[in-house]
Amino acid sequence: MLLRHTSEEIATRSALTINPAKTCQPIGAMYAALGIHSCLPHSHGSQGCYSYHRSTLTRHYKEPVMAATSSFTEGSSVFGGQANLVQAITNIFTIYNPDVIAVHTTCLSETIGDDIPQIVSKARDSGAVPEGKYVIHTNTPSYVGSHVTGFANMTKAMVDYFSGKNGKKDKTVNIIPGYVEPSDMQEIKRLTSMMGIKTILFPDTSNVLNGPQTGRYKMFPKGGVTVDALKMTGSSMGTIALGLLTSGPAARALDSKCKVPCEILNMPIGLTGTDIFIDTLRQVAGVTVPDAINVERGQMIDIITDMHQYFYGKKVALAGDPDQLVSLVEFLVSLDMQPVHIVTGTPGKQFEKKIKELTEHLPCNVNVFAGSDMFMLHQLIKNEPVDLIIGNTYCKYIARDEDIPLLRFGFPILDRVGHSYFPTVGYRGGIRLLEKMLDLLLDRKDRDSSEIEFELVM
Ligand code: SF4
Repeated sequence: MLLRHTSEEIATRSALTINPAKTCQPIGAMYAALGIHSCLPHSHGSQGCYSYHRSTLTRHYKEPVMAATSSFTEGSSVFGGQANLVQAITNIFTIYNPDVIAVHTTCLSETIGDDIPQIVSKARDSGAVPEGKYVIHTNTPSYVGSHVTGFANMTKAMVDYFSGKNGKKDKTVNIIPGYVEPSDMQEIKRLTSMMGIKTILFPDTSNVLNGPQTGRYKMFPKGGVTVDALKMTGSSMGTIALGLLTSGPAARALDSKCKVPCEILNMPIGLTGTDIFIDTLRQVAGVTVPDAINVERGQMIDIITDMHQYFYGKKVALAGDPDQLVSLVEFLVSLDMQPVHIVTGTPGKQFEKKIKELTEHLPCNVNVFAGSDMFMLHQLIKNEPVDLIIGNTYCKYIARDEDIPLLRFGFPILDRVGHSYFPTVGYRGGIRLLEKMLDLLLDRKDRDSSEIEFELVM
């Protein structure tokens, strides 16, 4: 009993988080920055924050995540980190020579109030930024929001710093994929290329954090959106942003900066989410949907039809990030499953409202909490048990204590591999999710069946 102190009685808490259902802003900013080709993320704060951020990303992706730090000591904590950052910029371009340094702040530098643009401008004036190289920044105080907010902020910084117009409209569609796996970004590119659409996907961590083992270490892998491509985003004919929270701010900034119209959609997880994504792509790019994509859709529907009886009425508890949870809940409801407890660590009343709308016709009570924690999720499950938990690695403690199958989904996943290589977006991703859910539900059915009920064929 790892979490034996979790009680059934739910007390109102306003100032205490127990086992957070989120990580901190700079982690999201660091992840987004890795989606720019030849970019070194830079953490403006102490080494402790930086090593936590790097190690969480490294443990999730099972790849060495490179970044730099301003290495605050007592002096910089009192007087500010200007000298440290100017020195860091000089050192980074001299030693590692990236195309871009993407600076994000931490709680400490935010509390001091360091003015990053002013410090970068000082570094530039002193000649620390070579010709053709860039330093971008975003503010990521972690006492606000979560890793999702940090990701959104750094993605918006890409627009603020790079997006421009070349005077004409290109036949290109920008896609902002949201906080998803490198495998999902790869899948989005596969689908758009099947439809014959030229896209600029940003950020793009495919081939950065899921690259092959070649035997040779490369500090800047070949993946990532290039600065040249980012500069062209202002000339695209439209932007499709996937996820209101993670991609919305960058899409809106691009619209107001360069007048590129945007469609902000839910993430393409599940049948409806993917249908809307494909249809929006079709309309924005003015193309037709190829048969090969219709076949994938048909395969997904075939599995749902064949196995619907095993999904029907199953109760699910979910913890994760708002954009992903919205699409996941929509998917589960479409399968006649019952998502009854939904918790995110990221604050936001809009999320709760959206989930309530999606679940209003369910024949059961649905508990949804934004800005909440794993302790709350556990308490909810104790009050009303479920058949399946969907969430990150930290849910394994609840799953073990309550003897409930766990589908690992979201961030971070520290104890399994596969998420970087196999997508969960698109029809193929949907098929993978269906398979994973069925494996867990049917394994449990096999385990719990009496000898008479034990079936060979499902
Ligand atoms: S919450 Fe703040 S102090 Fe803690 S690791 Fe994140 S940035 Fe650093």
